[in-house]
Amino acid sequence: MTKLILILGDQLCPQISSLNGAIKNRDTVLMCEVMAEATYVGHHKKKIAFVFSAMRHFAEELRKAGYTVRYTRIDDENNAGSFTGELKRAIDDLKPQSICVTEPGEWRVLEGMKLWSEAFAIPVDMRPDDRFLASHEDFKTWSAGRKSLTMEFFYRDMRRRTGLLMQGEEPVGGRWNFDEENRNPAKPDLFRPRHPRFSPDEITRDVLAIVERLFPDNFGKLDGFGFAVTRADAQNVLESFIADFLPAFGETQDAMLQDDPFLNHSLLSFYINAGLLDALAVCRAAERAYFDGRAPINAVEGFIRQIIGWREYMRGIYWHAGPDYVDRNFFENARPLPWFYWSGKTDMNCLSTVINETIQHAYAHHIQRLMITGNFALLAGIDPKAVHIWYLEVYADAYEWVELPNVVGMSQFADGGFLGTKPYAASGNYINRMSDYCGTCRFDPKKRIGDDACPFNALYWDFLARNRAKLRSNRRLAQAYATWDRMDEGTQHDLRRQASRFLAELK
Ligand code: FAD
Ligand code: SF4
Repeated sequence: MTKLILILGDQLCPQISSLNGAIKNRDTVLMCEVMAEATYVGHHKKKIAFVFSAMRHFAEELRKAGYTVRYTRIDDENNAGSFTGELKRAIDDLKPQSICVTEPGEWRVLEGMKLWSEAFAIPVDMRPDDRFLASHEDFKTWSAGRKSLTMEFFYRDMRRRTGLLMQGEEPVGGRWNFDEENRNPAKPDLFRPRHPRFSPDEITRDVLAIVERLFPDNFGKLDGFGFAVTRADAQNVLESFIADFLPAFGETQDAMLQDDPFLNHSLLSFYINAGLLDALAVCRAAERAYFDGRAPINAVEGFIRQIIGWREYMRGIYWHAGPDYVDRNFFENARPLPWFYWSGKTDMNCLSTVINETIQHAYAHHIQRLMITGNFALLAGIDPKAVHIWYLEVYADAYEWVELPNVVGMSQFADGGFLGTKPYAASGNYINRMSDYCGTCRFDPKKRIGDDACPFNALYWDFLARNRAKLRSNRRLAQAYATWDRMDEGTQHDLRRQASRFLAELK
């Protein structure tokens, strides 16, 4: 029975479940660059280039391994423009007896796939994506009957299940979590090694030219493209991270520096999400570094928690919460996204720095995403769906299964606490403590009122005051509300007026 095996742009892995049992000289692998996927949001130019180039390299890898690959380029004149259209063309040409595909990472694509069997009148074998450590069933079992879906408990289960950093039933080092040691600011370090970058080869240069031609007005810059686009180069990024950055990963994890966009972060999310690296193998490499004495426990535990904890948990939440999760809007926020999220042009140095780095690299690290762009949108009352679309567009690692719960749940608290226990809202004081952005800003992080007062300060108190009815029962905010209540009425009034003036001018 001949099979047509569809491989999507984030399934670039020879062990992908759709290839299990494939017969190389009989079945055909179909890969296609389609406009429907490239344009359903206006992705960063570097994101499109990364995905297309990695796909083309993967198609070559499969061909070398003996597979027959049918590949449609975005600029092929017969390109039908969608997965369904490309499948139809391939079915008409090849007359396969079944379609095989690994489940996608997005509700939108899944709904489309469910129609294929009827539309094409052939069986569709949709297989689980077993690159993830927790299946949908595992997450359902874990979450069943729980009052609160706290990530930390999910993470401990994942440690037990994988055996990572475990000594029998006990966590290595005597604690599950070493985060207390990972909340330090950082100092500029001229001697920090440089993260690897890769010169575009002929395939990538071709893709870059096509992206520039077909998507000239999309967000972001293409120049300086240096992503790994092959499995071998992604492996080089992993090795460089373990040797040069993992040892200090923990201590600088929450820090932000003006002239150092990457610090000791791994820059691995692009490759893990696209299938060029295996999540468990990445964690095992980090674990080995700990056991060999090459990295301390707080760094290695913190790193592994991000992957088998947060990453797996976010995916579980995405599918568990359902397709309506995208519409959650607990605070009923409706303000449009300010224009500076696209241009980077604002006097607020923290925002301008992070957004300009995003324009250049299609990357920002976690604390920048959470405590700068996310925090500002939350405090200013931006429509969470607009915030979600922005994040999905601008980061090269953004796929809905991971981006949406991070934005709607963790960053915007738009799900009212389904995922997190309190909103990640912070004033200029936090940003000043964790970064060196404020030193060169036209605003003063210590001032709350006046033309040069840091906007985050009044916005923070205004956020708490205007959402009091919704947040009053949140015990983790009790101290903040107690501080607000201790302020005299005049101060409260001045802060709210300062915030409302700022918001009135926000475009
Ligand atoms: P490191 O700091 O080196 O962390 C190591 C790895 O841990 C990452 O590569 C990633 O695989 C994983 N990880 C860390 N934190 C998370 C998390 N919260 N959720 C899932 N995985 C995590 N991550 C994405 O992969 N795609 C997104 O679209 C995305 N959108 C985000 C939006 C917001 C508002 C926030 C707050 C976070 C988002 N994240 C997203 C999570 C995190 O910011 C990125 O995974 C991380 O910045 C990627 O850079 P890195 O590889 O250098 O990570
Ligand atoms: Fe950002 Fe305020 Fe600091 Fe300026 S002073 S960088 S606006 S936190």
